[in-house]
Amino acid sequence: MTVMALEIGPARFAAARVAPDGGLQDVQAVPIPSRAPWNACRDLLTEVAAGSEVTGLGIGATGPIDMAAGVAAPPDIPDWRIGFDVVEAAQKLFPSAPVGMALDGVCVALAEQAYGSLRGVPDALAVAVSTRICGGIVVGGFCAVGRTGNAGNIGHMVMPGYDDPCDCGGKGCVQAIASGAAMVRWAREQGWAGDDFAALTDAAGSGDPIADAAVRRAGTVLGQALSSVASLLDIDRVVVGGFVAQAGPVLWGPVREAVAAHARIGFLSGIRVEPSRLGDTAVLAGAGILASPPQQR
Ligand SMILES: [Zn+2]
Repeated sequence: MTVMALEIGPARFAAARVAPDGGLQDVQAVPIPSRAPWNACRDLLTEVAAGSEVTGLGIGATGPIDMAAGVAAPPDIPDWRIGFDVVEAAQKLFPSAPVGMALDGVCVALAEQAYGSLRGVPDALAVAVSTRICGGIVVGGFCAVGRTGNAGNIGHMVMPGYDDPCDCGGKGCVQAIASGAAMVRWAREQGWAGDDFAALTDAAGSGDPIADAAVRRAGTVLGQALSSVASLLDIDRVVVGGFVAQAGPVLWGPVREAVAAHARIGFLSGIRVEPSRLGDTAVLAGAGILASPPQQR
């Protein structure tokens, strides 16, 4: 009997077996192919299951999702952009397993509550900044899922004064400015010649003015957005994961400066904004909780 976790995007499918204590075993990941994405996802799940009976599957998916219908419509997977019934497909693969799906940001928040910096913290925000930006809100000890399952979408908060186009159809969204992909895109538009986020942060750390401006612009916007959410929800604990959060002082300096400048109202005086310690398996760990909640272990 095996409980499993699946992560859908934005850039990879990842799967793991979930141990009784919630630990992830046999974590495997594949890039999302441009064609027949479910076939790749199915093959990955089958390989990780390794022939054992699957008795539970939790899925953390890049949004938007329709949680009640079990449908994900991630913009990075062209075949699924209008919506793919992930839960039904998974149910056919593992007929005896209950299958649950939640937004990737909700899964990150669940994982931070169970294993990370938010243990015992009843009101908090968990954010993951990578190719995209997702978030999960913890209020009164519970993760908010919202009407359709998409609560916590801090990536689509609109920042006044910015017109960077977002793939949601809007402009000036946090994700269109502060995701790793957005920073690289903006820097290249300004004449920077590199091509990925690692090169961008290296260049920023070495004093390249365009790279530094790109990361500073993103960090400032991120700090402003985090401050706004903290004020809106009366939250003073924020944890930020995803590969962008690993960038170090070049990003965290501007984030902290913006939080200090904007989280000024009295009830936010002790606000803590800190990097996640969960690494790149936070979504999978949260998906595992969907399949096997800690109190049932
Ligand atoms: Zn947007």
